[in-house]
Amino acid sequence: MSTGFPSHRNFTRQREQFLAAATAANARLYHYPHPLCGPFGEALSTDVALIGNPQAKRVLIAVSGTHGVEGFYGSDCQRQWLQTFNPQTLPDDVAVLMIHLINPWGTAWIRRVNEDKIDLNRNYLDFSQALPDNQAYDALHAIYTCDQLRGPHRDQADALLNERVQSQGWPAVMSIVEAGQYHHPDGLFYGGNRACWSNRTLHRILQEHLGAASVAMCFDLHTGAGDYGHPMLLTITQAAYPALADAQQLFGPWLFTLITGANSHSDTGVAATATGYASQAIINALPHVRLMPFVIECGTYPGEQIHNVLRDDQWLHLYGNLDSPQAHQIKQQLLEQFFPADSDWQELVWVRTRQIWDRALGALIKMQG
Ligand SMILES: [Zn+2]
Repeated sequence: MSTGFPSHRNFTRQREQFLAAATAANARLYHYPHPLCGPFGEALSTDVALIGNPQAKRVLIAVSGTHGVEGFYGSDCQRQWLQTFNPQTLPDDVAVLMIHLINPWGTAWIRRVNEDKIDLNRNYLDFSQALPDNQAYDALHAIYTCDQLRGPHRDQADALLNERVQSQGWPAVMSIVEAGQYHHPDGLFYGGNRACWSNRTLHRILQEHLGAASVAMCFDLHTGAGDYGHPMLLTITQAAYPALADAQQLFGPWLFTLITGANSHSDTGVAATATGYASQAIINALPHVRLMPFVIECGTYPGEQIHNVLRDDQWLHLYGNLDSPQAHQIKQQLLEQFFPADSDWQELVWVRTRQIWDRALGALIKMQG
């Protein structure tokens, strides 16, 4: 099972290049093997590179691939940073923790979701508590389980979506769909009913590597929301957190603060209604750390277009043949939606990400631990 997948960009290539760059930078490496394989039969793993003192009090963290397919951007930035950074400029009490492809299955299979069809960024919840009940999604669910890629059933599903968009507007419909839902494992933006492998692995990594930290900045790397080639820096949590004012002062007008909630709105393309984002989970997991959680979100194509390709990919994994020319076409399109082949786009997102990390690291170095 391989012909459906692009060969020029794949999990193994990203992983090998990251590990080579980390090794050349004298990083300490840690591996978290995933139980499943990729479409070429390749072993999957989340890898962690730690640069600097493992007992450092101040740490810059970067996480790639929360949404698997978006990991090509994040992984490329992590690799390029490792290739260009001079580790000797790092003081003894500052470290950098690169968490490479936290949803390796999603990257390998060119999907946003993980092996359980879970959107990892809706899964960081306390599952001992009642789960969010997104009843408005129920009426839209049939759109996302359509059994045809093209044909009368797909036309019906398109008509249902268009009808809702006509009456409510695209942002309102997307704020329902993208809020996440916990009842339909075969639907879009499914948050799961337990902590999935990537969620548990991220918690393990944080416990294992941030025990000595007192201050940290964490960058969760995403693509697909916002205008083409316009990376946004956001901080997204359920409530103001203790270090929010520091984060705002550090980045000034570059930083967009998004407090999520059922009635929250945003013009960024990032779902303000969503539950289970990584940022809040990282704050909760590290109560001893003065944490600033950031998201870098690099815009690609219009939301309607991306949504349609996500629907095609949904069809492919529910009903299609992953080893077919049709699969190849859908996977190529999906990769393009979240990682444009345009070299100007790729260069620009790297330059901006590097600027953001430079400012963050500069501030961590100046800070007193
Ligand atoms: Zn994302």
